[in-house]
Amino acid sequence: MPDLSEKPLSRRELLFRSAPAKADMPDPCIIRLPWADSFVIETACTGCGLCISECSENIITISRSQKATVDFDKGECVFCGACADSCPEPVFWEKEQRETKDPWDGVAVAGQACLSGQGITCEVCKDQCPEEAISFPATLGGSALPTINSDDCTACGACVAPCPVDAIHIDWNKDCEQQVFRASNEEGRHE
Ligand code: SF4
Ligand code: SF4
Ligand code: SF4
Repeated sequence: MPDLSEKPLSRRELLFRSAPAKADMPDPCIIRLPWADSFVIETACTGCGLCISECSENIITISRSQKATVDFDKGECVFCGACADSCPEPVFWEKEQRETKDPWDGVAVAGQACLSGQGITCEVCKDQCPEEAISFPATLGGSALPTINSDDCTACGACVAPCPVDAIHIDWNKDCEQQVFRASNEEGRHE
């Protein structure tokens, strides 16, 4: 759970505050498909679009580098597996792996814009979560902040689009954060 109380910002909070907007991020940070590694999508996906037409939730889109990727602004992943089953290229893990491993490594994170953290009643994300991973534990004299149980969160993205202030994003892995951090630093050096 992110700490939204009054204290110096952590490196991670600083990172996300200074991170480029989603449209400016390097593709490896935003290209995601369940049961597929981002660097493999980058090299193996031909952008044929078969997975797009098979996705019942219509959440797969083509990135600016012509690779398939989920977009949680469009909805949630229900982990049906249709994308992996339909793909003619070696983008997704082998079936045996898909049946035994979690589809991806991510967790939802609520950021500074969260209304509840500002004393405004809102539990939209909690109501949308199919895993009941979000709770609002009472705090002494303060606002109830969303707590996301990382053990229960599947990174399905169901809580992302319904948030009225875009306060929730899926936090993937450290490699991606570091890539954004490096990209931000390089942009700064070029200014
Ligand atoms: S697993 Fe199903 S819902 Fe999720 S992206 Fe693939 S086709 Fe869409
Ligand atoms: S079906 Fe496979 S190759 Fe085609 S767009 Fe989807 S992930 Fe890429
Ligand atoms: S990403 Fe899915 S499982 Fe995780 S908190 Fe959001 S709705 Fe719940």
